[in-house]
Amino acid sequence: MSAATPILSSVPLFEGPYYLSIGGQLVESGASFEVINPATGAAFAKAPAATAAQLDAAIASARQAFGSWSALSYDARQSYLEAFADALQTHREELARLLTLEQGKPLTSMAQPEVDLSIDWIRQGAARRIPVEIVEETDQHTVELHHTPLGVVGAITPWNFPVVLALWKVAPALMAGNTMVIKPSPYTPLTTLRVGQIAQSVLPPGVLSVISGGDELGPQLTGHPDVAKISFTGSTETGRHVLRSAAGTIKRVTLELGGNDAAIVLPDADYQAIIPQLFWGAVGNSGQWCVGIKRLYVHRSYHAAFVQAFVAYAKAQKLGNGLDADVAVGPVQNKMQFEKLKGLLADIKANGQRVVLGGEIDPDRAGYFIPVTVVDNPPEAARIVQEEQFGPIVPIIVYDDVDDVIERANHSPYGLGGSVWGRDTQAAVAVANRLDTGMVWVNEIHTQGVDIPFGGHKQSGLGTEHGLEGRQLFTNPKTVLIRKSL
Ligand code: NAD
Repeated sequence: MSAATPILSSVPLFEGPYYLSIGGQLVESGASFEVINPATGAAFAKAPAATAAQLDAAIASARQAFGSWSALSYDARQSYLEAFADALQTHREELARLLTLEQGKPLTSMAQPEVDLSIDWIRQGAARRIPVEIVEETDQHTVELHHTPLGVVGAITPWNFPVVLALWKVAPALMAGNTMVIKPSPYTPLTTLRVGQIAQSVLPPGVLSVISGGDELGPQLTGHPDVAKISFTGSTETGRHVLRSAAGTIKRVTLELGGNDAAIVLPDADYQAIIPQLFWGAVGNSGQWCVGIKRLYVHRSYHAAFVQAFVAYAKAQKLGNGLDADVAVGPVQNKMQFEKLKGLLADIKANGQRVVLGGEIDPDRAGYFIPVTVVDNPPEAARIVQEEQFGPIVPIIVYDDVDDVIERANHSPYGLGGSVWGRDTQAAVAVANRLDTGMVWVNEIHTQGVDIPFGGHKQSGLGTEHGLEGRQLFTNPKTVLIRKSL
C-alpha cells in the first residue's frame, strides 16, 4: 500500500466474519473462498461459499415470508425500507471502505458516492407506488388494472458496481410485495453480504437474504421452481444462460447486459469544455461501467487538438490504490479482466494502432493496474472499437460525416446507452433520436434516477429497471372487470 494514505486510518473497517443471511439468521458455511484486493492482488478476507442446500433454504424462507410481506400495506413496507436505509446510513463509511478493498474503486470519488446513492435509492424507491389504473369506465362496468407481486425474486449482480446494482433492485421488488434472494458476484461478495447482515436487523425474516458462493449458484437460482423472477445484471453471454434456464418455469426475467456505448462529439461542440465529462464517462470506475463511453467519435475538424487536450487531462489523473486520497483511477477488478485487457493491448500493438498514452503495463507492480490508454483513430473494424473493452482503454475515432457516424454507432450487437455532444441542442437531440439504444444522454452523461427508465436494446438487455415501467416488471398485471349492475 502506498505511503500517501490520509483517509485510511479515519475510516472504520468491518473486520468480519461474513455470514450468509438466510431467513433472518446469520449463517456460517462449511466452506469459504478468498476475496482478493485488486490493488494488491492478495487475498484480504474470506467469504462463505453457500451449499446448494443453503440456497434452497434461502429460497424457502423467502417463499414463506412472501405471504405476510405481500399482505402489508405500501405504507408499512415503506417504513421497513426507511429503517433499512437508516441502518445502512450508520454503516456508510465502513461499507464504502470495504467496497474499495474488494472492488478497487477510489474511496472518495467512487465508493462513497456509490454507497450513498444506494441508500438514497432505497429511500426514494420506498416512496414510490404502482397505482391502480382505471382502463375503462362506462355506465355498465369498470375495468381496473392492478399490479400484484410475483413471489420470490432472485437478484444476480456483477462486480463493477456491487452495491448499487444490488440495492436498486431491492426497493422496487420489495415495495411491490415480493421477497428477494441476492447472489453477488464471487469477485465482490463482501459489501453485499454486509448489506444482508444489516438488513436482518430491520426487515422481517426471509424478506431479503444474501447468498455468496461460486458461479454455480447462478443456474440453481435461475432454474429453481420457487423463484418467480430473475433480475440479472451482468454480461450478455451469461444473460443468454439465464434466459435459457428461466424458460423451464416461464420465469419473469429482466436482463441488464453489456454495451459498447458510443459518444458522438458533433462538429459544433465546445470540445475543450467537455473533455472532463468525456474522460470520466469513459474511464470512471476504470472503464468498468456498462454505460461507459467505449467508443469516442470526434469530428476531423478538431481531432488533433482534441486528442492533445484529452491526453493532457488524462495525464493529470493518478493511477493507484483506491484508498489513497490522491488516486483518481483504481485497478481493474480481477485477474480475468486484467488478462483480457492485456490481450486487447497486445492486439492494438500487433496491429500497429497509434497509442498516444499508456499502453504499457508495469510488470513489477502488484495488483491489476492497467494505465489509462488512449488509442488514436484505430480502424472501425479494430477489436478495441468493436468489442466491449470494460477497462480504461479509450479509442478516439475520427469521423467526417454525421450520417456516417450514426450508422457506425448503431452498427453493433449492443444497444445499451450513448451520448451526443454539441452546442446546438436541437441538432444534438435529432442525432440522439437516431441512436438505437435504451438510453441516450445529450450534453450530459450517466444521469440516473429512480424515476428514469434504464435498459438496453438489442443484445444489451431485456426489460427495464427504474421508472414506473421498471417497478411494474416486479409484478403481474391483473385486469379486474366489474359489472356495475346485473
Ligand atoms: P458475469 O455475467 O460474468 O457475472 C454476473 C453474475 O452472474 C455473477 O454474479 C455471476 O456469478 C453470475 N453467473 C455466472 N454464471 C451464471 C449462470 N450460468 N447463471 C446465472 N448466473 C451466473 O458479468 P460480470 O463479469 O460480473 O460483469 C460485467 C458485465 O456486466 C459487463 O458485460 C457489463 O457491461 C455488464 N453490466 C451491465 C450492466 C447493465 O445495467 N446493463 C451493469 C453493470 C454491468
